[in-house]
Amino acid sequence: ALCHLNGELLPLREAKISVLDRGFIFGDGLYEVIPVYGRRCFRFAEHMARLERGLAKLRIPNPHSRDGWLALARELVATQPADDQLVYIEITRGVAPRDHVMPEGLTPTVFVMTNPMKPPSAEQRHHGVACVTARDFRWERGDIKSVSLLGNVLARQISADQGAVETVLFRDGWLTEASSSNVWVVHEGALLGTPKSGHVLEGIRYDLLAELCAEVGIAYNLRPIAESDVRAADELILTSATKEVLPITRLDGEPVGHGALRGKPGPVYARLYEAYQRAKLE
Ligand code: PMP
Repeated sequence: ALCHLNGELLPLREAKISVLDRGFIFGDGLYEVIPVYGRRCFRFAEHMARLERGLAKLRIPNPHSRDGWLALARELVATQPADDQLVYIEITRGVAPRDHVMPEGLTPTVFVMTNPMKPPSAEQRHHGVACVTARDFRWERGDIKSVSLLGNVLARQISADQGAVETVLFRDGWLTEASSSNVWVVHEGALLGTPKSGHVLEGIRYDLLAELCAEVGIAYNLRPIAESDVRAADELILTSATKEVLPITRLDGEPVGHGALRGKPGPVYARLYEAYQRAKLE
């Protein structure tokens, strides 16, 4: 596969960066993962807006315009056989002698690759997925899509060790998100999400779900969600670029939901999934 590194198109296995890259030394960089459907970037402007916000927070100059990024992504997408792909962009502060202080005037390192999309299986869509919970022990700048992902890696492994798909995190008894997804609660027919703050990454699906909910007539509310509300939810839903919307049907081994739908994907999920598939084609 081909990738882009600092303005050069080259085979992925030949792409090399310096050991003094601040991405390697400090995790001092940002990334984006952009889904591509039918060779078109989905919600590209929203990904760019998040990237621009993150770069400004880290005081890293943006190496490309939005059109420049789009051209890079398109060039790579065209080299791949799959119509549906995931474009990965990484920008680090650049290469410098090791010192915590941000050096002035560095040239950021820019890396772009693309991989075939690996959507959830039909089985996962049909039956929903199992998740486990853990305390959110990550830092308080989760709004930054940082490549420093050790907290997320440690969190994800808790569920991986138990054969589950995600680790749902609680900070002081309040829902934050999962290790690489946002988490949504259905309560009395309404979709509830955690307010945007430093404790969660603002997934591109935050605003997308708000739009889809408005379209299909589901109430959408961001408010603090207690752990007890998560455990009593009618439905639980994961979202991310790769998972799109995906129902959680078991949490810590307990079936999610009530009555006939206990342990099964629910109606709000089904409507959002359908609306999501329509949005992909627009
Ligand atoms: N939270 C975290 C910690 C993530 O890493 C991600 C992205 N994988 C998300 C939420 C979901 O964001 P998006 O919808 O933009 O993929």
